[in-house]
Amino acid sequence: LAAKLMDGKALAARIRAEVADEVRELGELGLATVLVGDDEASRIYITKKHEAAGEVGIEGRDYHLPADTSEQEVLDLVASLNADDAVDGLLVQLPLPAQIDEARVIRALDPVKDVDGLHPFNAGELLLGRPTHVGATPLGIMALLEEYGVNVEGADAVVVGRSDIVGKPVALLLLHANATVTLCHSRTADLGREARRADVLVVAAGRQGLVSGDDVKEGAVVIDVGINRTPEGLRGDVDPAAAERAAVITPVPGGVGPMTIAMLLKNSVRAARFRRGLLPFPRA
Ligand code: NAD
Repeated sequence: LAAKLMDGKALAARIRAEVADEVRELGELGLATVLVGDDEASRIYITKKHEAAGEVGIEGRDYHLPADTSEQEVLDLVASLNADDAVDGLLVQLPLPAQIDEARVIRALDPVKDVDGLHPFNAGELLLGRPTHVGATPLGIMALLEEYGVNVEGADAVVVGRSDIVGKPVALLLLHANATVTLCHSRTADLGREARRADVLVVAAGRQGLVSGDDVKEGAVVIDVGINRTPEGLRGDVDPAAAERAAVITPVPGGVGPMTIAMLLKNSVRAARFRRGLLPFPRA
């Protein structure tokens, strides 16, 4: 029996339409992005983010700095965007070139504008179960689960990948939604064994076909976050054969990817609401 596909494109389109209405209500709304260097994948993501922002009426500002930019120059730009009242949401695309301390740059962001939820204040509030800004990909995953009526309470949720941008925050969101969460990574002793236990399996490793069809439990819910560029096109981290065992599964492309963009726009609206005092943003 073939799994039902989770249509991330359709849900993302609906969310973008809602965001467009909210932007109209709020008036002017700005999203600034900072990209340093010429990482091809990063450039593609940034372009997509700005196209999507423009479509919903968010004013995008795209700062692209050369690969040899100094840490101080990036910190200065971040400081000026923090101070700029027309900028509601602000993100620095990672990875940064080796001469720049990523943690230092992230700490320099104004937490209220930090739409990727990477600043230690926002990451900490998520850890403590009081989410402020949470990254777009983990939010997109949770929105897909909700849209498809997946009850995660009490479920065995297995997350593969422990990055700060996907694995860790989605594991925390699942935990707060009362799943029993296992977080796997490159040193996990037996990934297949963990995956086969999962009622809800989220895979974000960036390794094509890391999870085989046999490693998916009959009737599981599978979220494939992986984006691997191959000569045949974009492929996920889960073998497509998993669709024969899963109950529901995200396609790649067309699953999590469009959701990430939509939730970034939603996060920009959230930042604007925080900044305008329409939503309380906790300050130390
Ligand atoms: P990352 O490289 O920062 O982290 C990868 C994680 O996978 C690490 O924690 C690592 O321990 C784990 N891992 C690597 N090899 C493994 C293995 N053999 N077994 C178990 N775990 C292993 O990556 P990331 O930024 O979290 O992104 C992960 C993937 O998701 C990439 O393909 C990325 O392109 C994709 N991604 C997609 C979206 C989207 O919107 N669809 C958004 C962000 C990232």
